[in-house]
Amino acid sequence: MGGIARVDLARELNLTRAAVTSIIQDLSKAGLVREVGSQPSGRKPVVLEINPNFGKVIGIDLGATHMTLIVANYAGQVIREVETPLEINDGPQVCLTHVIRQVRQTLHDLGVPLSEVKAVGMGVPGPVVSEKGMVSSPPIMPNWDHFPIRDYMAEQLGVPVTLGNDAELGALGEWAYGAGRGEKVLAYIKVGTGIGAGLLIDGKIFHGATGTAGEIGHIVIDRKGPKCTCGNYGCLEAFAGGRAIARRAQDFVRKNQRSRLAEIQPVEAIRAKDVIAAARRGDLPAQQIIKEVGYAVGSALSSLVNLFNPSMIVVGGQVSQCGDLFLEPMRKAVDEKSLRVAADHVCIAAAYLGRRSSGIGAVVEALTIALHQFADDNE
Ligand SMILES: [Zn+2]
Repeated sequence: MGGIARVDLARELNLTRAAVTSIIQDLSKAGLVREVGSQPSGRKPVVLEINPNFGKVIGIDLGATHMTLIVANYAGQVIREVETPLEINDGPQVCLTHVIRQVRQTLHDLGVPLSEVKAVGMGVPGPVVSEKGMVSSPPIMPNWDHFPIRDYMAEQLGVPVTLGNDAELGALGEWAYGAGRGEKVLAYIKVGTGIGAGLLIDGKIFHGATGTAGEIGHIVIDRKGPKCTCGNYGCLEAFAGGRAIARRAQDFVRKNQRSRLAEIQPVEAIRAKDVIAAARRGDLPAQQIIKEVGYAVGSALSSLVNLFNPSMIVVGGQVSQCGDLFLEPMRKAVDEKSLRVAADHVCIAAAYLGRRSSGIGAVVEALTIALHQFADDNE
């Protein structure tokens, strides 16, 4: 995060220099803002920045089978990142107890007292009702329905907590620090066990009326397709989600041994991550699966392109590590199926932050509520 001069701040905020000077005086006295020397050129020499050491925030990303915890300072710089396995199916009590233990352990390791943490941002792989801080009818985390995740975490840790959908936070992370930096109309699609999209307009998450905007995994791409976790048939997730990738590979190996994946026994033990690893090592059947999945995702994205008209689509989740092998068939499908003018103006790129997109997005949300809290306290 770079600094900014008072005069530029006044212009950005549409305030007078005098008003900005007075506000900055208060914020400097409180220790939130500090002066950091001169701009290289220009007559107004003093540059201001948020004091990175004003406090810490924590970003947490819960996936279906892992969790990522990031401790960051007020400049959004990562101080510590921890990833541990977690089974979302174990339900909220087990999972959140694990998360809280990890938070305490990580802070202890860093020598940072909990009192220095000003806010926690948290992402989950399901549709979030943000004002209630809980998930609603989540297909891949059914036993979490209506559990008060945000309030439980806030009570246990004694700090403000915000809850978001993991794909929406991925969009925010990529917009703030990644491949979609500053894009006006950005979509982020996360292809993991589930498939979801986050939609961002001018840096603001578009949640929809009930928080389920961007549930692209449940767009039906073939009504005769396999059954999905949501109960419908032929959803994108049933073709291209992590479980579908694993099932495609298992079916292949049962019929045909000519793949490195045949070394994994029993066949049922083959996971999406094995397919991704094999494809990256050049295994042709695994590559074919990744290409087919890419084309299926692209088919659903073509509807998104027609509806939302994004300037950029950032693709995240583990399978995006396959790079162009995965992205090229996706671009082809979008090119074939979207309206020409929309298809010609959308760039499809892999997530720059990789596995961290949603965790960094959670940090951004935590910083946002921490700063709001500060403003409320100092009114
Ligand atoms: Zn579905």
